Amino acid sequence: MERVRTAMAEAGVDALLLSVGPDLPWLIGYQAMASERLTMLVVRADGGGDGRADLVIPAFEVPRVVDRPEVFAVRGWGETDDPIDLVADLVAGADRIAIGDHTWSRFTVALQGALPGASWTAGGTVTGPLRAVKEPEEVARLQAAAAGVDRVATALQKGEIPLIGRTEADVSAELSRRILAEGHAVVNFAIVASGPNAASPHHHAGRRVIEPGEVVLCDFGGTTSEPDGQPGYCSDITRCVHTGPPSAEFAEAYGVLQEAQRRAVEAAVVGASAESVDKVARDHLAQADLDRWFLHRLGHGIGVEEHEDPYLVDGNDVPLVAGNAFSVEPGFYVENRWGARIEDIVIAGDDGPLALNRVTHDLVVVEA
Ligand code: ZN
Ligand code: ZN
Ligand code: ZN
Repeated sequence: MERVRTAMAEAGVDALLLSVGPDLPWLIGYQAMASERLTMLVVRADGGGDGRADLVIPAFEVPRVVDRPEVFAVRGWGETDDPIDLVADLVAGADRIAIGDHTWSRFTVALQGALPGASWTAGGTVTGPLRAVKEPEEVARLQAAAAGVDRVATALQKGEIPLIGRTEADVSAELSRRILAEGHAVVNFAIVASGPNAASPHHHAGRRVIEPGEVVLCDFGGTTSEPDGQPGYCSDITRCVHTGPPSAEFAEAYGVLQEAQRRAVEAAVVGASAESVDKVARDHLAQADLDRWFLHRLGHGIGVEEHEDPYLVDGNDVPLVAGNAFSVEPGFYVENRWGARIEDIVIAGDDGPLALNRVTHDLVVVEA
């Protein structure tokens, strides 16, 4: 909270309003219910009346909150109260207000009407740079999340999750069950893309039946289950397996991708710009003319949200700092033929990049 207030002061933001979305659990460990009843944390740069933030929340949801009276006061509102008035009173006099990126527009619009003198900015301008730098405890939670999906990936590579003759959707459902069994509270996605479907980076697992002799790209992750009052952290991993031996052409392309991913992880050192890491992977793929099939950025930050700062993409010249957590996930996608991607979560640190996902990057052949 101190770091948030400092960042607000530096940005000239008088008040920060957080509702649904990841900023609120990140800051106070409480996840707002997404509903038409407003939940909103009000943070004043000057501390407000008693130096604490105020959590405006439907009165009957107060029991969900793990109280931290030294950090925030809980202000329950009754069914016939107007929470917009309550928030407007708490920020009266604020010239510049930052409002959380995921806030529903019905609340943003109502607050703008109630506070006509204020200017507005996105809450992410305050919280994004702070969230991008993980504290050791956050790294530990990301590590536990990665270990969970690593065990699922290991089962996939060992052939413990049958593929041939099953639909992608069926395999996706099994991956999801296993992700939950490995300590996640929710599954955020479980992409299963087989054969030509692997050419679509965000393929939705569907009714296609997996055949022998093709690639199966699996990209999955969730958010860890933590005690009440603690935020969950995200996992995200991609591995490809092949049902039976791959063609020489595909194996060769995959080998180039594997080396591109390895080089990019190695390049993700403190001080390197985000875009330079993207370029390392792209340049290596170019040696085999595969860069033209690398259709997306190299990676995204990860934390309480699956995609957050920093983004490893051409045009982002922000240097990596110790504590940044991000994916390194080059791929190639050849329409109507095949595709492949390899993804690990990596932490930038003073001792060099640390890849959290440890399972082999090899194109493992599964026979089942
Ligand atoms: Zn993605
Ligand atoms: Zn992924
Ligand atoms: Zn990812």
